[in-house]
Amino acid sequence: MLAALELGARFTAGAARADAKRFAQVYSPIGILPPDQYLSLVVQGTTGCSFTSCTFCDLYHEPYRVKTALEFEQHLERVRAYLGASLSLRRRSIFLGAANALAAPLPRLIEWFNLLVRELEAKKRGVGAFVDGFTGARRTTGDFQTLAEARPAARVRGPRVGARPAPRLRPQACTRARSWTPCAPQRPPACGSERS
Ligand code: SF4
Repeated sequence: MLAALELGARFTAGAARADAKRFAQVYSPIGILPPDQYLSLVVQGTTGCSFTSCTFCDLYHEPYRVKTALEFEQHLERVRAYLGASLSLRRRSIFLGAANALAAPLPRLIEWFNLLVRELEAKKRGVGAFVDGFTGARRTTGDFQTLAEARPAARVRGPRVGARPAPRLRPQACTRARSWTPCAPQRPPACGSERS
C-alpha cells in the first residue's frame, strides 16, 4: 500500500506531461473503443478510418493507412516498452485499431495476427477490431477462420518461436456507426492507400 502511494506521489504534473509525450510517440490518437474493450490492450495496425464519410464524426483526422509487418512489429515493441508492468492491467483482450483495421488486405492481417500471437499471447486474450459493412472490405467466414489459425510469426529480425493454440476473434461493429447515415457515395476500401 505504501509503495503504491509513493508511486502515485511521484506522478506529478511534469511526470504526466512527459507520459503524454511518450504516449504520443507510441500511439496515434485513439479515437474510440467499444465499451467492452475499455480495459483491452490497444494496438494499432492502421491509422485513421477506412470509411471517413460520416459528417457527424470528428474521431480521426489522419488519412487511413495500413502499417507494414515491420512497422507493426516495431509498434508492438514500443507498446510493450511503454506500458511495462501496467501491461498486466490490460488483460481483457487485444483491440486491433483503428477504424477499421479489418479493411486491411488479408495477407497483411495474417502477418499482424502472427505477430500478435507471438508477442502478446493473442491466443489467450482474443482479438477485437472494428468492422463495417460500407467499405466493401467485408470479411468472410473463411477469412476469420484463417486468422484464427494464426501461428507465431517468424521475427522480421530474429528467430522463430513455438506454436500455440488459435486466438478467439471478436469483430466489433463501429460503435458510432450503428446510428450513422452514410453521407457520401460508397468508396472503395481505403486500404488502397497502403504504403508497403
Ligand atoms: S463514425 Fe466510425 S465509420 Fe464513421 S467516420 Fe467516424 S470512425 Fe469512421
